[in-house]
Amino acid sequence: MMHKKHITIIGAGLVGSLLAAYLQQRGYQVDVYERRPDLRKASIRAGKSINLALSDRGWRALAQVGIEEQLRQLVIPMPGRMIHDKQGQLNFQPYGKTGQAINSVSRGGLNALLMDRAEELGARFHFEHKCTGVDFERTIAYLHHQDVSLEIHAELIFGADGAYSAVRQAMQKTDRYNYSQQYIPHGYKELSFPPTAKGDFALEKHALHIWPRKDFMLIALPNLDKSFTVTLFLPFEGEKSFANLNTPEAVETFFTREFPDARPLMPHLTDEFFENPTGSLVTIRSYPWVVGNTCLIGDAAHAIVPFYGQGMICGFEDCYVLNKLLDEHNDNWREVLPLFQQLRKPDADAIADLALDNFVEMRDKVADEQFLLRKKIEARLHELYPDQWIPLYSMVTFNPDIRYSEARKIGKQQDKIMQEVMAALQPGDDWQSLDFAAIVGRLQD
Ligand SMILES: Cc1cc2nc3c(=O)[nH]c(=O)nc-3n(C[C@H](O)[C@H](O)[C@H](O)COP(=O)(O)OP(=O)(O)OC[C@H]3O[C@@H](n4cnc5c(N)ncnc54)[C@H](O)[C@@H]3O)c2cc1C
Repeated sequence: MMHKKHITIIGAGLVGSLLAAYLQQRGYQVDVYERRPDLRKASIRAGKSINLALSDRGWRALAQVGIEEQLRQLVIPMPGRMIHDKQGQLNFQPYGKTGQAINSVSRGGLNALLMDRAEELGARFHFEHKCTGVDFERTIAYLHHQDVSLEIHAELIFGADGAYSAVRQAMQKTDRYNYSQQYIPHGYKELSFPPTAKGDFALEKHALHIWPRKDFMLIALPNLDKSFTVTLFLPFEGEKSFANLNTPEAVETFFTREFPDARPLMPHLTDEFFENPTGSLVTIRSYPWVVGNTCLIGDAAHAIVPFYGQGMICGFEDCYVLNKLLDEHNDNWREVLPLFQQLRKPDADAIADLALDNFVEMRDKVADEQFLLRKKIEARLHELYPDQWIPLYSMVTFNPDIRYSEARKIGKQQDKIMQEVMAALQPGDDWQSLDFAAIVGRLQD
């Protein structure tokens, strides 16, 4: 029988657990070491991004480990965003074509499903094992478990231990290692809308709700228990900032003034506000991802801000691409690992940039008339020329065959064309009589 490697994964988060299922499915023996207790037994800590948006790239990667059916039970489709203005007026903007939607899913529920599946396939999980370093020459992971130091010898190690990865920190000490971290001025705080007294959702459940307020915003995603997880994105410093929301009265006044229709849906606002932590938002870039027989994957390699809803999905796509390369190269890891990092690095960089850009779109542009008109024109272009003009959001969210780097490149071209189209439109012009064929034709210029 062909020898199959023994693989160690550090981190049983979303990406480490999916990777364990993929590799175990290929016949490797996988051991996963996780710093925290088993989340299937302990209750998940409040304030750590309780739900997430899952879209087509994520589904494609998850479908490969056979959990599609169970996953369908866990999600709430959101075909568009519901914009709430300061007067409480609503405006629903579809994300794509009829039938297309992103999905709200519980972080803990999805993570538990992935761990269960990986275990079913034979992976072994070791909780409360904290990685403290890696010897890249000898492929040894150093761990702490209940005050005991352990050395784990493996043939391959994957660092799936998230944005503040211990595996990557060890790599950063190796020669000529490239690394950067960039915080945005905003932080986030998680709050909630509980179900109504009648036990219903407080708002339309099939939508991602946004209260865009230019420099800050509130968003809400539905949960299966009929509550919403609500996230406030706000600068740390300045006039409207976390620094200034330092008393219950200040929080009360701010929410009543800025989000008047959301405030009555939050009976525990001030308690939650002061109990839940304020998180920071970072973009981490690193390279190489492979040192010796150790490889970074997911946020450990490329943490991004959450505004495209693609951080976890990019990590899932890492697993999908790695698996495909293993198929194409008969599990020859010497060939696969260098190819993996070369292929994925430009895509990770592209989605990192797109996620930063999308923050401006979410907190500001979605409430802008010109932006909405441009969206309408692009939707018509897509309807008339479905293969030639796919709006950037759709390329990223609904077209997994288009790489992130390709989407960003085409998106830039489209942006230039649309800026010219919008500048040429005079007040009173009928956008429906634009020469759509000529606009699409400019993609060839
Ligand atoms: C507010 C917010 C909203 C988000 N929304 C979305 C969204 O809608 N859609 C989306 O796709 N992405 C979203 N993301 C991004 C997403 O959360 C991450 O991309 C995803 O969690 C990355 O998964 P991971 O497994 O790589 O890392 P993590 O989820 O961070 O998992 C890492 C695991 O490693 C463990 N670990 C850490 N250090 C060690 C150690 N030294 N030893 C052992 N174990 C260790 C941790 O305990 C953890 O279990 C959001 C992020 C934030 C902050």
